[in-house]
Amino acid sequence: IACWEQGNSFQQYDELLGTKLSQQFSIRSQLHKAIENNEFALHLQPKVDLGSGVVNSAEALIRWNSPELGRVSPAEFIPVAESTGDIIPLGRWVLQEAARLVQNPKLPASFSIAVNLSSKQFSDPALLSQLKQIHKRLKGTSRSLELEITESMVMAESADINRTLTKIKAMGFKIALDDFGTGYSSLSYLSRLQADTLKLDKSFIDPIPNDQQHADFVASIIQMVKALKLKLVAEGIESEEQFNWFAAQECDEAQGFFLARPLDFDAFLASLPLGRAQVDIPKPA
Ligand code: C2E
Ligand code: MG
Ligand code: MG
Ligand code: MG
Repeated sequence: IACWEQGNSFQQYDELLGTKLSQQFSIRSQLHKAIENNEFALHLQPKVDLGSGVVNSAEALIRWNSPELGRVSPAEFIPVAESTGDIIPLGRWVLQEAARLVQNPKLPASFSIAVNLSSKQFSDPALLSQLKQIHKRLKGTSRSLELEITESMVMAESADINRTLTKIKAMGFKIALDDFGTGYSSLSYLSRLQADTLKLDKSFIDPIPNDQQHADFVASIIQMVKALKLKLVAEGIESEEQFNWFAAQECDEAQGFFLARPLDFDAFLASLPLGRAQVDIPKPA
């Protein structure tokens, strides 16, 4: 209503909405061609082992450099790809590319790459046949690929979902639950879910260490996750204080801009001197 009274702000709102819609429209119209033209790259963001300081793993994050639109964030184009169905060929490419990268002999032998799956991709029957091929290609090292799923993808707890997860696990792939803390998981559900790893969402990390009550809360979640024998990754670590706090909690791995941004493959390799991160791990008190 205020918009009608102040003609100006209505117009601004309208322009903003128009820009957003036209951006989505451009993405929609460019996406299909972009897949055929190979305009995508997988960047890697290291995860640092908080016990040793070694980088044993990384998350693969897709990047799109479009000749028409410039760099487009996955937060913008992944939802569009989901709605157009382009996510199927795109997600397929991401898995092939991650499987190719992880076999690079310049990576440490036991290195693993985590790949984000989208929900359409997860419920596509072709996913299992692709994973079977990759499993063959990786010759007993399927554990070097970890598939990141989110709570919303598995919340239904249907027999289908459980069967898919069981088959994926039987081939040796690891499963990580991404963005933990943004959904509605119950404890009993967490213990039944066949995940190996849990990634604490950045929104859980941000208030640490300043908000004491929140810090106590997260510390108790970490204890619970340990009791469930899940590997815990803190994502979105932006400061040394946060890094030290999670190391002292004996969280397993840390990922975030404080350690490194996502890097293209060559820059990633160059940042791995002897496979060790350039960080000092404080001893737990
Ligand atoms: P995500 O899987 O939760 O990935 C973590 C996101 O947080 C990445 O954003 C990463 O760059 C960002 N990040 C990492 N550390 C920090 C930090 O310290 N501070 C801040 N502010 N951000 C940090 P990115 O690459 O823009 O990806 C956004 C989301 O897009 C991902 O969230 C994931 O849901 C989706 N995505 C990215 N790549 C793929 C992909 O290959 N396939 C699918 N299906 N989804 C993808
Ligand atoms: Mg992820
Ligand atoms: Mg995440
Ligand atoms: Mg996220």
